[in-house]
Amino acid sequence: MNDGAVVAAHDVLIVGGGLAGLRAAIAVAETDPTLDVAVVSKVYPMRSHSVSAEGGAAGVAAADDSLEEHIYDTISGSDWLGDQDAIEAFVHEAPRELLRLEHWGCPWSRQPDGHIAVRAFGGMKKKRTWYAADKTGFHMLHALFQTTLKFREVTRYDEWFVTRLLVDDGRVHGLVAVDLHTGRIQAITAKSVVLANGGCGKVFPFTTNANINTGDGMALAFRAGAPLKDMEFVQYHPTGLPFSGILITEATRAEGGWLLNKDGYRYLQDYDLGKPTPTPELRSMELGPRDRISQAFVHEEEMGRTLDTPYGAVVHLDLRHLGAELIDARLPFVRELCLKYERIDPVTDLIPVRPVVHYMMGGVHTDVNGAAGLEGLYAAGETACVSINGANRLGSNSLPECLVFGARAGRAAAEHASGATAAPHVVAAQAADEARRIEHDLLDRVPWEEDVSTIRTEMQATMEESAGIYRTGEEMTKGADRLRELQERAKRIGVRDTSRTFNTELVGALELANLLDVAECMLASGMQREESRGAHQRTDFPSRDDEKFLVHQLVTRDSDGTPRVEQLPVTITRWPPGERIYGR
Ligand SMILES: Cc1cc2nc3c(=O)[nH]c(=O)nc-3n(C[C@H](O)[C@H](O)[C@H](O)COP(=O)(O)OP(=O)(O)OC[C@H]3O[C@@H](n4cnc5c(N)ncnc54)[C@H](O)[C@@H]3O)c2cc1C
Repeated sequence: MNDGAVVAAHDVLIVGGGLAGLRAAIAVAETDPTLDVAVVSKVYPMRSHSVSAEGGAAGVAAADDSLEEHIYDTISGSDWLGDQDAIEAFVHEAPRELLRLEHWGCPWSRQPDGHIAVRAFGGMKKKRTWYAADKTGFHMLHALFQTTLKFREVTRYDEWFVTRLLVDDGRVHGLVAVDLHTGRIQAITAKSVVLANGGCGKVFPFTTNANINTGDGMALAFRAGAPLKDMEFVQYHPTGLPFSGILITEATRAEGGWLLNKDGYRYLQDYDLGKPTPTPELRSMELGPRDRISQAFVHEEEMGRTLDTPYGAVVHLDLRHLGAELIDARLPFVRELCLKYERIDPVTDLIPVRPVVHYMMGGVHTDVNGAAGLEGLYAAGETACVSINGANRLGSNSLPECLVFGARAGRAAAEHASGATAAPHVVAAQAADEARRIEHDLLDRVPWEEDVSTIRTEMQATMEESAGIYRTGEEMTKGADRLRELQERAKRIGVRDTSRTFNTELVGALELANLLDVAECMLASGMQREESRGAHQRTDFPSRDDEKFLVHQLVTRDSDGTPRVEQLPVTITRWPPGERIYGR
């Protein structure tokens, strides 16, 4: 029956079977083995987007590196918007977490003498990125997944789509989800809920993100009354394959790849990726931070120095000089992707690439232990904003972030659950309401005036036009008006497919509602931030303005459903704001 019945009760519920979610589940089980923990995931956990991470995970390991340097690189990479207490905790705990993963079975690549191998990554001034060839995410997720299997207290709800959090009097008591196998809409209660739903790249048309990355965790929290933070900061990765958006990992440049414009010229030597440096050799070139390299592409395009293709302008990534042996040993997946999706071989051919939406710096506002602003609610991973990434994430910081803050959120959720009482009866009525909403507003709607794909396409086009690599207040205002119209039209969406089993049209409609809310928050936040910092570059306010905007922006939902933006101070401990310098 689709009545929103409460079908189960757990101590801790984790939404998401990616790196952050599975790490949180293990932390709960280890903190208090008497607790009953469950992982709810809309896809089988090994299909979570974490599996596609290629390049690696940062953690200080090399003898010539130090925690201080990783901290400083992350702070300056964040354009001083990262919270320094969170960054310190992250950098201190990351190596330990990566080592634990080794003990759980992750096959890190090694140096000939057996030490962990580390590679360079953009914006990191020392080699500190651990990797498992270029299939790092697959191996990390696999190691975590098999580890969760040994804890009998971890129950799984695979292919359950969470649509709503159950909240009473400012406290979270569980969730409502559609069991995609049967179409049943059911409630599961819990004393603590951890959101680990991953990112929201699908707000944009061209992204490296999986189709499942629709910002569900952010939207669930937002609608439940929890604030989102720094939603204006969307990361473009400089090297995606045209058309598909498939990522060509930064590890290609770490291993020595070059970016060439249409004249075969390494154009990054002309760009100031930070403070001007006296000689090209001192510039970080291909290993600059992602925001700056993506911005350089736009300038090359404006000067007519990119190549036109049916799928937009491109530049070339050149790996030919690295040779087949290195490419096969360190970048085998890149070779496979190029052969399969572009029919080119990087050993002999240039790879066409263009900037592509990749990662969301913003997300559910949390403290350093994942607490998310409502009692009993926690968040970790890409869906959360602690914030260690500030205005620009450094490549390879996200995977360890999922481990460090997944574990912290799991521990905090476990402690909260140990002392909390069971859910009140009122949540059963909320669950029944949610079931009615989905049944009547989506599945039983006749006539269908609007459909999911049209509105999604228009939303993605709106976001690309108004919130791309460069933005203006005028474009964002226009975009926000357009999104309001799309929100109104989305209320008239009907789902034509009324079957119960794996109804992908219904899932699409639920995801679209989440995407629209997240998109509105991005623009609301972006319009308020009248400066350029990291990934938020405004041509109408081209400079960083520390006096007014060295602050986070929190977005909460007003009673009419629109976003309201407030400021929150950045935590600065030992590193006062400075310039971002990327000479090497
Ligand atoms: C192609 C690619 C390559 C990358 N490479 C790197 C790299 O080399 N190094 C690095 O540091 N970072 C990298 N990143 C970023 C990094 O992989 C991600 O930020 C990180 O893996 C996110 O993990 P997560 O656990 O937060 O979420 P995910 O792995 O995305 O998992 C989200 C989970 O939430 C579940 N979920 C979502 N919504 C719902 C819902 N409504 N109901 C139920 N379940 C739900 C999903 O089923 C899934 O299990 C890369 C990202 C991409 C896209």
